[in-house]
Amino acid sequence: MTRILAGLFLALIISACGKETIAQPDTPMADAEQPDWRIVIHGGAGVILRENLSDEQEAAYRAALEVALDAGAEVLKQGGTSVDAVQAAVLTMENNELFNAGKGAVLTAAHEHELDASIMDGRDRDAGSVAGVKHVKNPILAARAVMDQSEHVMFSGAGADAFAESVGLETVDNSYFTTERREKALERVLDTRERTDADRHGTVGAVAIDRDGNLAAATTTGGMTAKATGRVGDSPLIGAATYAQNGVCAVSATGHGEYFIRVGVAKTICARVELAGDSIDAAAENALGQVADLGGDGGVIVMGGEGQYAYVFNSKGMYRGMMDSTGAIETAIFEAKE
Ligand code: ASP
Repeated sequence: MTRILAGLFLALIISACGKETIAQPDTPMADAEQPDWRIVIHGGAGVILRENLSDEQEAAYRAALEVALDAGAEVLKQGGTSVDAVQAAVLTMENNELFNAGKGAVLTAAHEHELDASIMDGRDRDAGSVAGVKHVKNPILAARAVMDQSEHVMFSGAGADAFAESVGLETVDNSYFTTERREKALERVLDTRERTDADRHGTVGAVAIDRDGNLAAATTTGGMTAKATGRVGDSPLIGAATYAQNGVCAVSATGHGEYFIRVGVAKTICARVELAGDSIDAAAENALGQVADLGGDGGVIVMGGEGQYAYVFNSKGMYRGMMDSTGAIETAIFEAKE
């Protein structure tokens, strides 16, 4: 009875707020078979409707999500660390032009690409990030190099590209990232002055737990179509889009960055888990509720200290997936249960 009342109360709150937050499995590890390792990924959240995606496009996205999951899982299977796994998964999505990360990233109003990435290791909360890079082929490798090979946490702009080059990372001409699809999107946004959230979705991210129980998180984006030169979103900001702390939680976020920065989404979620004792999906719903109250939308993938996980979003869809050591694999795109 109490449960039913609680359910009714929740339904009332949800309909009063207008915007539903979709939470999907927060698998209680005590009940489920506990995996030795697990990886969860996203490829961006936004207005992703079944009717706007052809069967071929849907199959291509699902295949790309599986490639990313496989890459991360391969690391974890071999006994590698979660930080290497999230990097490996994100790397494949940066190289796939379906996503808004590396190749295939959106264009700025000045017809350039400015990419943002961040990575965090839950073992010691070491972190690295780059903002507004234009030449390093894989921003996530640059973020990792900042974490491992510098005494700093964040580099931006030309300095970030120069640092990436100095540690031997591959650099490319900015036009390497350009695709026809993103050129058309830029033209449309500049012509109509209207940006739909389809003009930003495709940000990628991953969270993982390894055999030793270490958590990690990583996020990369091209940002938003027609963004102003120099604009930085939430993706490279530790605590906004990315956070990982062993025993607590790991988060990678995607959505309208300005709102995610103001809420400090990733750190808010982990703080609620650690200090308020929230479950990971209650914590994520709280943070995304704050984003919605300010007028923003998007989603997060969250992993708890025991490897439990949740996808939570208040947009129409989110490219997402999970793979673990029990052999479980799932990919999903739309908001309804698939
Ligand atoms: N969060 C990204 C940004 O604001 C965009 C996205 O994830 O859709 O740059």
